[in-house]
Amino acid sequence: MDLCDRCAGCAVGAAVGDALGMPLEFGPRQPADALVREMRAGRLPAGTFTDDTEMALALAESLLKTERLDPEDVAQRFVVWHRTNPADIGMHTRQVLARVARGEGWARAAHAVQGGNPQSAGNGSVMRCWPVALADWRDLGRLLEDSRQQSQVTHMHQDCQDACAFVNAAIVRLMHGETPVDAVALALADAQVPAELRQIIEAAPRRRQEELVNSGWVRHTLESAVWGLLTTDSFEEALVQVANLGNDADTAASVVGALAGAAYGLAAIPQRWQEPLHGEWPPQADSPRPWWTVDALSGLARRLAQVG
Ligand SMILES: [Mg+2]
Repeated sequence: MDLCDRCAGCAVGAAVGDALGMPLEFGPRQPADALVREMRAGRLPAGTFTDDTEMALALAESLLKTERLDPEDVAQRFVVWHRTNPADIGMHTRQVLARVARGEGWARAAHAVQGGNPQSAGNGSVMRCWPVALADWRDLGRLLEDSRQQSQVTHMHQDCQDACAFVNAAIVRLMHGETPVDAVALALADAQVPAELRQIIEAAPRRRQEELVNSGWVRHTLESAVWGLLTTDSFEEALVQVANLGNDADTAASVVGALAGAAYGLAAIPQRWQEPLHGEWPPQADSPRPWWTVDALSGLARRLAQVG
């Protein structure tokens, strides 16, 4: 499998996980004999991706436009998206972007919201971080720095930054053809993940399905995503297992989708999931809004990684 297929797999995988998890978000864990394996309608029509992919697309388009990750440009693109009144948006992200929209600098806004709730460490930055892995796959130092900085635009908490560095390091290891087990171990070292987070990631594959909380806490999202990647042996099974954990299903499935897509490649993503996949992009207030599908996502991934 070539790098091109893995890098398109990462982008499409993330969006497919988002759309598969969408109708299961905030719901209960599905019983093992009744797992949802098809795209279903929820608050949105079947196959629709949500904020996880929309914010990633904003980040990706910024990375294509600027020589190097520019947090100011990223923040402004997030604000343009925020103004369209997205169906799905995290509370922490909404608070930061509302301040930026009123003219506050992104760093000041992100620090102010973090300061108001110092323990807040949501998954809102790790869910959208994969475009940095595709743009920076040739340079580990730059990859880690940009991964953390894209988190800072909304999520300043150290766990959020470390989660983004870890996930993107793992994606790059997978793009280079490492096995999932080796990619996780290597990425822990690459990103110098601190002890507490490291223990959660290392213990994840030994967790039982019923132990996983899968909340919006970034530690839970990482745990679910690593569990899904390391306890299955196909793209489809990794996503089915994680999406059916319920709760913050779309985000956890999107994170495992980016990882599993890089591991197994675009060709391993079921056609029955690729075909209905879509979202409204780029953001614009008036309808009808344009549609974004698999081909656009694959093309974007290749342009970001400059392959194919
Ligand atoms: Mg979402």
